[in-house]
Amino acid sequence: MEKKPSPFAPREMAVMWQHRSAEKRACYHQAYHLAALALDHALEDSDSDRPKAVILDLDETVLDNSPFFARLLAPGTTITESQVMHEFIEWLEGGEQTVQPGAAEFLNYAKSRGVEPYYVSNRPEAMRDVTIRILKAEGCPNADPEHVLLKKGKLNFFGHKHELWDRVAADHDVLLYVGDNLDDMGGAFDDRGDDSGHDVVDRNAAAFGTRYILMPNPMYGPWERNL
Ligand SMILES: [Mg+2]
Repeated sequence: MEKKPSPFAPREMAVMWQHRSAEKRACYHQAYHLAALALDHALEDSDSDRPKAVILDLDETVLDNSPFFARLLAPGTTITESQVMHEFIEWLEGGEQTVQPGAAEFLNYAKSRGVEPYYVSNRPEAMRDVTIRILKAEGCPNADPEHVLLKKGKLNFFGHKHELWDRVAADHDVLLYVGDNLDDMGGAFDDRGDDSGHDVVDRNAAAFGTRYILMPNPMYGPWERNL
């Protein structure tokens, strides 16, 4: 009988690419360099006196969870959804998490240009202290409760964050959104139409690399709904 490929194999490749490949590192450097250039242009173009901000997602944007996901790939590892949160926090508390290549440099550059970084994440409140601790240890500016905005409820690695974005936009011009999926882009891609967002992305092509900076993440994301 013909042996079917494991349905988990593609995800394993995705996790290993994110965890191990130099190409992934290069992609993050590239994206954060582009973010700095985009910030320069946005500042030149701005004629507003309002304070300026950049909004960044955390997981797979500023912070790297790939070592945690790689650990789950160990042979014989089984984990239920309810165990994930517990294990994830335990891993974070272990102090192994790092920021993505280029992230701290970009964040400090933004700060030096007078643009306030805000971290807007679907991480729950229970992860606030450890998250701030990691950002601080990794040299990220604004690692404090005022600039780390988290969602109420349970851990989600993706999903819309309108209430949190609105809080920042209420008294700032938001120059850039940086994230690892379209749901991080300030609501611009809420309506993906009936082709899972291909058309709306193409129609907004000019905004990628100028207003929206997208990081690579083949491990998970809202795109999974359309597989
Ligand atoms: Mg993310």
